[in-house]
Order: sequence, then C-alpha cells, then structure tokens
Amino acid sequence: MGKCKLCGKDIGWFQRTHKECKAKKLQGSEDLINYTISFIQLTAFEGPDRKKQDLSTYFINESEASAIVLEGIGITIYDMLNNSKFMSVSNVYNRSIFLVDIFNITS
Ligand SMILES: [Zn+2]
Repeated sequence: MGKCKLCGKDIGWFQRTHKECKAKKLQGSEDLINYTISFIQLTAFEGPDRKKQDLSTYFINESEASAIVLEGIGITIYDMLNNSKFMSVSNVYNRSIFLVDIFNITS
C-alpha cells in the first residue's frame, strides 16, 4: 500500500491520489477562481481571510492558492479590458492589491 499524496491515507500501489481527493482539489481550485472574480466584482459574501482558511480542506497549499488567485485576477482584468462587464478601474486595482497581500502573491 501507498499513501494518497493529498489526504495521506492508504491507497492502492498504482495510484498517487484518491479520485475523490483529486476531484475535491479541482473543485476547490475552480471555487477559488470564481471567488477571486466575485471578490473583485464586489459580489463575494465572505472576506479573503476567511476563504484562505478553508483551502486546506481542499488540499490547496499556499503557493497553489497564490497561483490560482493570480489567475482569477488575470481573468477579471481581461474581462474588464474586453468590456464584457462594467467594472470600476479603482475597484479592480484596490481589490486585486488586497488579494495579492492576503495570498502572498509575489513575482
Ligand atoms: Zn486521498
């Protein structure tokens, strides 16, 4: 027996992760992207500090979270530049900077 790379519990020899754990992680990643977009668009119902605390239950570590949030910021800016949604530039800027700080996004 081996151990699942995500939850650490027993797993068959030829598997690296449980299907359920992998699916949960994918779901958590998609959720974080959507959260990032809605936070910048001022439609999120909880703060990023709170959101960050939940990530370990989805097996998402800090550097993965940073990359995901950065992707979400990119998607939001792309949307804004393509005028598919009206967003205030200062809101997008201020909210993005806030997320960069909370999720320790560095270049
Ligand atoms: Zn697992």
